[in-house]
Amino acid sequence: MSARRTSLAVVFTALVVFVVLALLWVPWDPVPGGTLSTPDPSRYFTEEEIQRGEDFARWARLWSWSSLAVSLVVLGFLGFGRAGRGLVARLPGRWWIQVPLAVAVVEVGVRLVTLPFAVALRRHVLDYGLSHQAWGAFALDLAKSEALDVGVTSLALVVLVACARRWPRAWPAVAGGCVAVLVLLGSLVYPVVVEPMFNSFTPLPDGPLRTRILDLADREGVDVDDVLVADASRRTTTLNAYVSGYGSTRRVVVYDNLVEDLGEDETMSVVAHELSHAKHQDVLVGSALGAAGAALGVGLLALVIPGRRRDSGGVADPRNVPRILALVAVAGLLASPVQNGISRRVETRADVDALEATGDPEAFVAVQQQLARRSVADLTPPAWSQAWFGSHPTTMSRIALAERAEAGSVLPAGGRTRHALAGVLEDVPDVVAEGEHDDDDQRGDAGDE
Ligand SMILES: [Zn+2]
Repeated sequence: MSARRTSLAVVFTALVVFVVLALLWVPWDPVPGGTLSTPDPSRYFTEEEIQRGEDFARWARLWSWSSLAVSLVVLGFLGFGRAGRGLVARLPGRWWIQVPLAVAVVEVGVRLVTLPFAVALRRHVLDYGLSHQAWGAFALDLAKSEALDVGVTSLALVVLVACARRWPRAWPAVAGGCVAVLVLLGSLVYPVVVEPMFNSFTPLPDGPLRTRILDLADREGVDVDDVLVADASRRTTTLNAYVSGYGSTRRVVVYDNLVEDLGEDETMSVVAHELSHAKHQDVLVGSALGAAGAALGVGLLALVIPGRRRDSGGVADPRNVPRILALVAVAGLLASPVQNGISRRVETRADVDALEATGDPEAFVAVQQQLARRSVADLTPPAWSQAWFGSHPTTMSRIALAERAEAGSVLPAGGRTRHALAGVLEDVPDVVAEGEHDDDDQRGDAGDE
């Protein structure tokens, strides 16, 4: 079989797997009772809060978009001009040294070029009181996440290039499989290795809250090994919680901000949302979809850059690393609406479950109000921005869901176990996050909601 035929077979197989998994496990229609009509923000927020959210979002979007545009231009220049190839050619060592060096040079280069935007965004975040973190600690987190990016990307590319060199015809299939396995392994390793790089955790002391959380987990049929508090308040003012790990290592993690600043009922509302993710194995399914997506990406890459032998070109040639990185960036941007569309549906189901498990729409709304105030959420984000980058439903549509629950029509009997899960590898800072993830951009993908 020629490399081209192998590539087509990989693309076809990965696409079928992705579509089948998505059809089976994504809750495509998570809102019982059909489309929600979102209430006017002024019913829940002051004029000043609404205005503040819009002002913050305007500049936050400008900086984020500028940064994205500049990074794409730089990657395009390196990837599709001659400069990138020439650059890699001058790097020392054999191919398996050149590949990680090329990744490091390109990624660090892009990071440096976009640094002014990161600093501008950071100042903006500080201006609005969204973080207490000092610049030194911020820079350290940035350096850690950069090192992590370079390490993970290098590993993936070394595998890719090795496959292309070793199996000139079959490599798209072998590499597609390897990359898919790396994605799955990554989601297992992430909570164990990466989380502790950014936070430290202490068990939530015995008391009414701990008891309530463990009781709720028990009622929802979710095994929980421990309830931990993350010391996130030194970095961010955002409220957050997530469930990570599988089986007997599963932990509920709550941010210290959440425990300290919210009432117990409100905290329970957030925890119930997270327990829904755990119950439906959203992380696992998100990883499976991510793995299929990654294999699809390898197949497409093999079609765009056919892998020929040795140094004559193709994916086997380290000089093409900048081009691969550019293509990956473009693919990521194009995949974003699909990924986030799935993510929003999964998040909506978690909200529906939380409302059902707690029977407390009032606390749910209070949480949404707090989250929006804390993260200075834009309560009426542009539709395109939400569709493309919104990993969660907007604040107002989440409140609309609670209104429907209040009216008693959210939960038709037996209507909710039809679909299992899907979770997503979201990595865009999400100012409306209820969030499993930080809304700052230091951690990259969190596979651990
Ligand atoms: Zn969630």
